[in-house]
Amino acid sequence: MKPARIEIFPSGELGIVWEDGHESFYPGKDLRCQCRCALCVDEATGRKILDDARVPGDVRPARADPVGNYGINIAFSDGHSTGIYANRWLREHCPCGGPH
Ligand SMILES: [Zn+2]
Ligand SMILES: [Zn+2]
Repeated sequence: MKPARIEIFPSGELGIVWEDGHESFYPGKDLRCQCRCALCVDEATGRKILDDARVPGDVRPARADPVGNYGINIAFSDGHSTGIYANRWLREHCPCGGPH
């Protein structure tokens, strides 16, 4: 499943409309804290390095760019821009609570 449209809302949420019409809205801080890049998660051990408490509460996506068919590279307002969020991961972690 791929995003058909990606949008950043003034509320700080990232919105995705998927190819099947499903819509997902991700709070900026949740996304930032779940970043899986090498600066946030130890690649060897899989252990989280990022301290959520040091992430600003009002952090929001500043830019969101598709990376091929794989996922979305999100740059955040706190300057962190190395995170790539897999489409599959995003869909599985859609916060709507409905069926996916
Ligand atoms: Zn990261
Ligand atoms: Zn959903």
